[in-house]
Amino acid sequence: MKELEAIQKLTDSFTLFPSIGSKTAERMAYAILDMPIDEVNRLIQSISNAKTKVHPCPICGILTEDDVCSICKSESRDHSTCIVLENSKEALSFENTNSFNGVYHILNGLINPSKNIGPEKIRINELINRIKKEGIKEIIIATSGTIEGETTALYLAKILENEDVNVTRIAYGIPIGANLDYMDSLTLERALKGRTKIK
Ligand SMILES: [Zn+2]
Repeated sequence: MKELEAIQKLTDSFTLFPSIGSKTAERMAYAILDMPIDEVNRLIQSISNAKTKVHPCPICGILTEDDVCSICKSESRDHSTCIVLENSKEALSFENTNSFNGVYHILNGLINPSKNIGPEKIRINELINRIKKEGIKEIIIATSGTIEGETTALYLAKILENEDVNVTRIAYGIPIGANLDYMDSLTLERALKGRTKIK
């Protein structure tokens, strides 16, 4: 017997998610069929809501539902210290440490020559524009310890050489290749406190 077309289509959609293989996708499709219709409708609604309401902050790139994110808007935050990150989710990890009161800049990716992602494809120009405009005095590079993270950090240090700003790199006392998303708050707080000056 062949899989029903509607179920197959649903399964195919789930395989688009990161780390979901075809078996898991199939289980998810069947789980949807087992759900009460109210729950399915809520799920559809929340997907649509998230997609229409959430967008990157035009200043820092953190995902927000407002015109400008709450961090960029805040007057109690230190706008002269800026953590540079690959993605918005990582900013949440830093916020959870409760030990950073500066602002963020999301690059929206990392330099990756093998995937044809050069510096012009990530938000580096936007960062340079912010330095002068917002009076940023310290840039804390907190890209991950992967090859791409290190390449991006080196490139940033080089390009910021002539800017009137201190550049630091967070201390990675963590295994090479470790992903920021999975670091616990304490490790992240230590990495932030132990940052070293690279320029
Ligand atoms: Zn913002």
